[in-house]
Amino acid sequence: MTDYIPVSGVVACHICPRRYYFERAEEHEESPRYTVCKQVSAHLGELLEPESVWQEILCILPDAPPETRDFFDECIAACRETAWQTPVQTDLAVESDRLGIRGRVDKVFPDNTFAVTRSSAAPKAGAYGTDRLRVACYTACLTETLGRPVAGGYVEYVANGVCRFVEPQPRDRREMVRAIRAAKRVIAGDLPPRPIRAPCDGCPHFERCMAGPRRLSDLF
Ligand code: SF4
Repeated sequence: MTDYIPVSGVVACHICPRRYYFERAEEHEESPRYTVCKQVSAHLGELLEPESVWQEILCILPDAPPETRDFFDECIAACRETAWQTPVQTDLAVESDRLGIRGRVDKVFPDNTFAVTRSSAAPKAGAYGTDRLRVACYTACLTETLGRPVAGGYVEYVANGVCRFVEPQPRDRREMVRAIRAAKRVIAGDLPPRPIRAPCDGCPHFERCMAGPRRLSDLF
């Protein structure tokens, strides 16, 4: 199978398939916030040496804006308060032939669970719907890639030093199947209708979305 849908695309379609239609061909720059969280996360479960982690961040992001250091210090302080598992593998490429999706799992643990790293602040309890969907997708991918059952995965909210386990439920898998179907239609060239409760506030595609072009090729 060659036309795998990235897990990020499945999540984007869950939020608004129409926005995914507009953005699919665009390059997305990594945010400094994500760079910090990803690099701090890489050292969780071992002795945290802030200055050496910070030097790694500067190596990855030489032009980090000044406020990045403050955010980094907050992450380090928050993460010191939590006990973290040590992964057996990081950044593992995984895919599901059955669903036609693929992605990269941030961490895999010895008990076949895994973790995804997020740069958003944690919700009061549990995980955001989009993160539950991510975990459902990666659970399916990792189960097929490893060839053994995977119960679920952790969401690491590095900014708060919080780690939450998500065991996907039927409703999460239903959302996943629905979003994959929507992504397949977008990839086939269909412009999806505007969802009834679409998150349009601040959407950069508002104008052309309301103008309602029929095909991506109509936009150029
Ligand atoms: S304006 Fe609203 S419906 Fe249109 S792409 Fe953006 S979020 Fe989706």
